[in-house]
Amino acid sequence: MPQASASPAAAQRRLDPWERPDARTYVRIENVSKSFGDFRAVDGVSIDIYRGEFFALLGASGCGKTTLLRMLAGFEAPSGGRIRIDDQDITHLPPYARPVNMMFQNYALFPHMTVADNVAYGLKQDGVARAEIRRRVGQILDLVQLAPWAKRKPHQLSGGQRQRVALARALVKRPKVLLLDEPLAALDKKLREQTQFELMNIQEEVGVTFIFVTHDQEEAMTLSTRMAVMDQGRVMQMGTPTEIYEFPANRFTADFIGSVNMMDGTVARLDAGHAQVAVAGFDRPFTVALNREGQAATVHQGQPVSLAVRPEKIAIQRDHGQADTHPNRLRGIVRDFAYLGDASVLRVDIGDGRLIEVTAPNTRRALRREIDWDDPVVLWWEPEAAVVLTA
Ligand code: ATP
Repeated sequence: MPQASASPAAAQRRLDPWERPDARTYVRIENVSKSFGDFRAVDGVSIDIYRGEFFALLGASGCGKTTLLRMLAGFEAPSGGRIRIDDQDITHLPPYARPVNMMFQNYALFPHMTVADNVAYGLKQDGVARAEIRRRVGQILDLVQLAPWAKRKPHQLSGGQRQRVALARALVKRPKVLLLDEPLAALDKKLREQTQFELMNIQEEVGVTFIFVTHDQEEAMTLSTRMAVMDQGRVMQMGTPTEIYEFPANRFTADFIGSVNMMDGTVARLDAGHAQVAVAGFDRPFTVALNREGQAATVHQGQPVSLAVRPEKIAIQRDHGQADTHPNRLRGIVRDFAYLGDASVLRVDIGDGRLIEVTAPNTRRALRREIDWDDPVVLWWEPEAAVVLTA
């Protein structure tokens, strides 16, 4: 069972979907594959999604996430495996018979129709009575705060407003599951930030299960309750944003999400939930806590591993010849320095041209830097701050 997440998205939610008393698997993707000729775009993917989740399929271009989303929508037929929604096997149902709706990346609004008509379109197609259409369209436009713009045409709206029209149009049909293709891609950075919180609030209010694809890790981290990180048609790791960022299960995820320093080494010793990792070129092994659930059982003495530590978890100080007592202490020379305002990013040469990236928060205001290019520095991190990767 996943743990509660401390991501901004989850912080807004009272309870994560898997913690609610009525929690149950709602969308079940079972060993689903898709081949185009002899190319496997999706390769044996299994994912369980809870009712009310905001689930992200995250991966680089070509990893198979859109193909998976299209199989959920019914636009693509799986080559193998099953898909269930709310205990109904939908694997071979046509798109219109599925309890899902899709919001496309370009929003695909009808330019000649008003906002209200765009939203009403699907209901009209389904033959819903006019009074009922008016009621439901009014309700959903209130929800997405577009009622004052009901009579406008799409070109008279901002990007964020157009996104909300598309969302209203997808939600008005009351799907059990809403599929979103890069929901914020069409918005500029400032609008994205604003819109992502609106999107989270609306999702919370309607309680529909959202599944979205994105190649943007920030979008996945802020919006999702949980995510699946994909590569070459496979799921590399699944978990809350916090689990994925803080406890990556393999080198791919550690490297794909955020920045990370990785060093290859060998497990020299294991004791009390810690591994001593020997890295060539350093006379002392590094101490790493094996704090990912179940990890201690998978790490063995003599095993080749990677030690990964994120730049913001490394402390940095000018080298004053301090005593060398900390288990994970290194000395080096600053080779690169970038001032970003809130933080600075430094690259430190720790010997043999090996560079370690460090992010240091700028907690004090100063015109002169305490540490600068070519300064000798000491770096250290706690055993709990690093992870051992075996895959
Ligand atoms: P992007 O973010 O660029 O859309 P993606 O992760 O969503 O990428 P998919 O669109 O799912 O990737 O495509 C996965 C792989 O399958 C790609 O290599 C793509 O070229 C291939 N593919 C997708 N659709 C087809 C098709 N109809 N015929 C042949 N190959 C396809």
